[in-house]
Amino acid sequence: MRAFTAERQWEKFHDPKSLILALVGEVGELSELFQWLPADDAARLASDAPLHDRVGQELADVLLYLVRLADVVNVDLAQTTMSKLQHSAERFSANDFRGVAPEKT
Ligand SMILES: [Mg+2]
Repeated sequence: MRAFTAERQWEKFHDPKSLILALVGEVGELSELFQWLPADDAARLASDAPLHDRVGQELADVLLYLVRLADVVNVDLAQTTMSKLQHSAERFSANDFRGVAPEKT
């Protein structure tokens, strides 16, 4: 994404606020695909054409803006994500939370 952006001289458009708005817009496009699907059928419907391809396209858009935002704010997304996952694993042990949704505190 950094190279893609630099080749087009788009860095001036990629301030954090603009990237967050673009990211939210893409999440909105993803949400729209699921908006009126029955919840019980959503996973099955999203696994099959034609919805599967559209979901993949929107997920890719979300990821691209997320990766670009992380780059602009100098966050090591891979390292931070692994650290966060480890923290969640410790906070919600599989033995204590298997099949149980955590309560809000
Ligand atoms: Mg899109």
